[in-house]
Amino acid sequence: MMTPGKASDHKHAVANLHNLYRIFTVPESPDSTLGKIDQEISQNLTGFLRDRIVATEQDLAVIEQDFSSPRIPEQPSFVSDYTEFLLDTLVAQSVHTAAPGFVGHMTSALPSFMLPLSRIMTALNQNLVKIETSKAFTPLERQVLGMLHALIYSNDDAYYQRWMHDRDSALGAFCSGGTLANITALWVARNKLFPATEGFRGIAREGFYKALKHYQCEGVAVLISQRGHYSFGKAADLLGIGRDAIIAIPTDRDNRIDIDRLLETCDHLRQQRIRILSLVGIAGTTETGNVDPLERLADIAGQEGCHFHVDAAWGGPTLFSEAHKSLLKGIERADSVTIDAHKQLYVPMGAGMVLFKNPCSLTSIEHHAEYILRKGSKDLGSHTLEGSRPGTAMLVHSALNIIGRKGYGLLIDKGIDIARTFATMIEDDADFELVTRPELNLLTYRYVPAWVQAALRNAPAERRTEINRQLNALTKQIQKSQRAAGKSFVSRTRLSPLQYDLDTITVFRVVLANPLTTAEILREMLAEQKQIATEDEQAAAMLHSIDELIAGT
Ligand SMILES: *Cc1c(COP(=O)(O)O)cnc(C)c1O
Repeated sequence: MMTPGKASDHKHAVANLHNLYRIFTVPESPDSTLGKIDQEISQNLTGFLRDRIVATEQDLAVIEQDFSSPRIPEQPSFVSDYTEFLLDTLVAQSVHTAAPGFVGHMTSALPSFMLPLSRIMTALNQNLVKIETSKAFTPLERQVLGMLHALIYSNDDAYYQRWMHDRDSALGAFCSGGTLANITALWVARNKLFPATEGFRGIAREGFYKALKHYQCEGVAVLISQRGHYSFGKAADLLGIGRDAIIAIPTDRDNRIDIDRLLETCDHLRQQRIRILSLVGIAGTTETGNVDPLERLADIAGQEGCHFHVDAAWGGPTLFSEAHKSLLKGIERADSVTIDAHKQLYVPMGAGMVLFKNPCSLTSIEHHAEYILRKGSKDLGSHTLEGSRPGTAMLVHSALNIIGRKGYGLLIDKGIDIARTFATMIEDDADFELVTRPELNLLTYRYVPAWVQAALRNAPAERRTEINRQLNALTKQIQKSQRAAGKSFVSRTRLSPLQYDLDTITVFRVVLANPLTTAEILREMLAEQKQIATEDEQAAAMLHSIDELIAGT
């Protein structure tokens, strides 16, 4: 195997200015390795991926050996040699996220037009930090933000005429993903909570400690359900309010925030003189795809006078579906909303957005720099967390135009539809247990043979806990073994659903966003899991010990 780090492995190119100049000016010929791959990819991307990515799992420690040298090669490499290296090591051992049987994560297939269009983006190499390096990309990004803003807030045309390209404000911020979007939303909420006033120049200048002193409060809290995404913990840490400021409110049987517990917490915080920095609703939880009662949360945020953020990183595009958009009712009352474009808008990795109801919200985090982000310019960089940024908004623009509202609506409907079909399939099978029903296109379940289900129903609490513990190990084993076999992939997570006496149980998690995933593929997936449970040595041993546990009564 060839590693560019090892000098002896292949012959080197010569480092001279003439050769370096060629890298920048002369494209690889169609007959070269790179040229051939280029054609292969353009003609049949899925075929290329299927042929190149090795299906069965390779131990990470083995792969690490291909990437073990810390030395930057002294001499240049030939492009074709290096490309061979990539094919053998990197491409072969990547994950086929586009495969219809890959239903474990929120990353799935891309529409084929993304590939050629993303090359235009790379070729242009625009930098969205400012207009001087992006020109038309800046108005395009502002339009994309306007489009998503309109999807959520549905203001009239006059509103968007007024605000979309306004030099002093922005309808949202484009960023690399949901994490950055959530951080930006809380950053704005924090600065709005402690603004400049007489005798205080604002938290952005004077920091958290002086803000608390000036506003005479004991701390701040972010309220979000237990199912909240871990990015809020990062945000709290970064913003200096501390991770403990994230208060995880318990959820109900459907993994939605428990309103009574939320109200209790609000009272409690008021007594302690702790201010609510933001109430956060989730539209599509990462683990189970459930949607909080957003209308009710908007009411509560109104009563408490606090910022209301909705994390719709996953579920936002549900608004395209006539049949299902009512699930998100109340989202239009949020002060800010996160949407990930690299999830259900089918754009390549690295695209997220946060939209603000009030186009002036982002001024609370504005930064200027004389040489680059002059005041009064339309530069987008003055209110984004990131500095230099690629023109990824172009790909969102492309997808919105090429797929359209109707197209996205169909994709959403299809995903929810097949999730329901799969749920029925699981319920109809005596050896599986549906743990969370799909509200959107996610569900969780586990393998529990009928005889174990019967034993669980009759067992005393203590015995039930023990059986569940062993089932957790079994679920984990089946999941790992299925992943290693490489035919299909589900992920796993741990939940504490109320209906399981608060035992933490391990479940298979399925995300159905790839339009090419069929019921047949899902049926085969269940069959494979059953087969693993009985034929895989370790899994079979686990089943045997569950049997002994039950028999031991
Ligand atoms: C995916 C996700 C995020 C984080 O987004 P990244 O793009 O991974 O940074 C945040 N919240 C929810 C609900 C998500 O599903």
